[in-house]
Amino acid sequence: MWTKDAQGKPWVGVACEGDGASLWWPCKDHPSDEADSVQMAFSVPKGLKCISNGNLEKEVIGKDFSTYVWKVHYPINNYNVTLNIGNYAEVKDEYVRPDNSSLDLRYYVLQFNKEKAREYFQQVKPMLKCFEHYFSKYPFPKDGYAIVETPYLGMEHQSAISYGNKFRKNMLGYDYIVIHESAHEWWGNNVTACDHGDLWIQESFTTYAEALFIECIYDYNTSVNYLLRQRNYIKNNEPVKGPSNVNYHYWKDSDMYYKGSWMLHTLRAVIDNDSLWFSILKDIQDQFSQKQICSDELINFISQKGMINLQPFFNQYLLHTDIPVFKYKIEKKKGKYYLIYKLDAFEKDLALPIKIKSKNGNSIKIIAEDTVKKIEIEENSIEDFKIPTDLYYISVEKLN
Ligand SMILES: [Zn+2]
Repeated sequence: MWTKDAQGKPWVGVACEGDGASLWWPCKDHPSDEADSVQMAFSVPKGLKCISNGNLEKEVIGKDFSTYVWKVHYPINNYNVTLNIGNYAEVKDEYVRPDNSSLDLRYYVLQFNKEKAREYFQQVKPMLKCFEHYFSKYPFPKDGYAIVETPYLGMEHQSAISYGNKFRKNMLGYDYIVIHESAHEWWGNNVTACDHGDLWIQESFTTYAEALFIECIYDYNTSVNYLLRQRNYIKNNEPVKGPSNVNYHYWKDSDMYYKGSWMLHTLRAVIDNDSLWFSILKDIQDQFSQKQICSDELINFISQKGMINLQPFFNQYLLHTDIPVFKYKIEKKKGKYYLIYKLDAFEKDLALPIKIKSKNGNSIKIIAEDTVKKIEIEENSIEDFKIPTDLYYISVEKLN
């Protein structure tokens, strides 16, 4: 991207996810081709700076050109390799963990945004605290954590998070581009999808991580409200998972983000055991750290850890556009009330455990599947009988 900043100085950036890194440097353009480390040297006209991934190893100011040598100490997806040229200022900070260990933070912003940046990016510290709590320690400590101001909205460039949201916070007081792109350091950069068709692995977990961040900062109900806003963007027009082995990047909508996030939120309710759920998230980060993973391997891993066969569940949400429909009616016979229900889904083996709360606070767990079932329910739950669609991404149809 070739542009100029507000003061008319050159401002250059690279974001090539989808099109591929072979647009600008020779590589095997496939997610499996991760270098174990990268060193890059850039010469730029004097007066401008070049910011790239990792650490600045060397800066040589010449007569007409300045040379910058950057080094990444970890494996890196080739689309994550980037450069930024502009009139950059550097703001240094540090995140000190509860255990007193620390992580270098660096923010590279255009000179005229330097004052704003130090204060604005304070949100990074609570974010790192939450993500380290839920997922694992920041995966690239030697390189440090960095944000680089860019002329485009954002991108998860490893240890050089691209930020172009113009310093705008949402109503909860955070900048979702900072939160989203940084969550990719875990989901995408540390644990990487093995193929473009599997990109949901990166985007679903990252978009869900936004909601977890809100849960961490505020509370569970606020995060469910955040998720409900995400749900408005789901289109259900195309499968979340793309075809494998064809370098697929032709999605028209954003279902791998928002539907993917709701799939994981639903999965948390299906597993119905938060300590197990959060240990699974950590285990994925641990087991597949700095590795690529394909959909089936991940689904098997989560199934094993969750002690439940999740293949039909993931197939339903990843491969089909329609979501499961919970159909039910309530019958009264001889003074007793019965719930008659069935799940309609493309995946005939899908068995969805659903927890329903009654008015008096009791809850019952039913397994909705492709057969009609009947259970007796408490009388006083009839009026308030409600399927909690804020916990499960299903549609509900009441039959007469
Ligand atoms: Zn993303």
